[in-house]
Amino acid sequence: MSPLPKSAGAAPREGLKSVLARTRSCTLCAAHLPLGPRPVVRASATARLLIVGQAPGTKVHATGIPWNDRSGDRLRDWLGLDRDTFYDESLIAIVPMGFCYPGVDANGGDLPPRPECAPLWHPQIRPHLRRVGLTLLIGQYAQRHYLGRRRKRGMTETVGAWRDYLPDFLPLPHPSWRNTAWLRRNPWFEAEVVPVLRGRVREMLEADKAHPKGAGKNPPPLAGGGRGRGSRRQ
Ligand code: SF4
Repeated sequence: MSPLPKSAGAAPREGLKSVLARTRSCTLCAAHLPLGPRPVVRASATARLLIVGQAPGTKVHATGIPWNDRSGDRLRDWLGLDRDTFYDESLIAIVPMGFCYPGVDANGGDLPPRPECAPLWHPQIRPHLRRVGLTLLIGQYAQRHYLGRRRKRGMTETVGAWRDYLPDFLPLPHPSWRNTAWLRRNPWFEAEVVPVLRGRVREMLEADKAHPKGAGKNPPPLAGGGRGRGSRRQ
């Protein structure tokens, strides 16, 4: 079994429940949040897949349910998962780059995740997720944060180099409807990357059945290499 990725950090002293409780009362960047703080994050020490997206949109802010929109539908399709499995917190952790809705710019475009959030919270949460065998890096902010200098010049090039980041990471474009044109221009993504992603997720779930949750032993990592109708958030 390969060790945790460097981003996982050292074994934590504080329990995950305590960390998550503190995230829920975080107000660090409240002054910049048009709807106020409402952190949306899901994590369990038994999770096998970690999804790192961008930040909630207004729909997610209102419901508190991440990926509860058309972007989420497309992401679930890429993963080959139904909603029940996708929202099984014991299997799948959802820890975006920004936990709260950051608002829009003067042109109505999505503002990026608040820059304070991931540097503060990811190092406190990620070390608890010691069973994670694959981390999905959705969009440029997650790719920049987790890949650092290994990231290529742009998102398309980074996703195109997906084999370079396995087995720990898989960079993905955002599944927003706004990226439908990108998907048409880059048919290799759905032809090559999505089948590998589905296969690895299926493998992960089967491995989890063989190693019941919380059994105390880490199963091996995987083998091998909004708003309204689907914002780019999360
Ligand atoms: S975006 Fe992150 S840092 Fe800012 S208030 Fe929400 S949880 Fe805290």
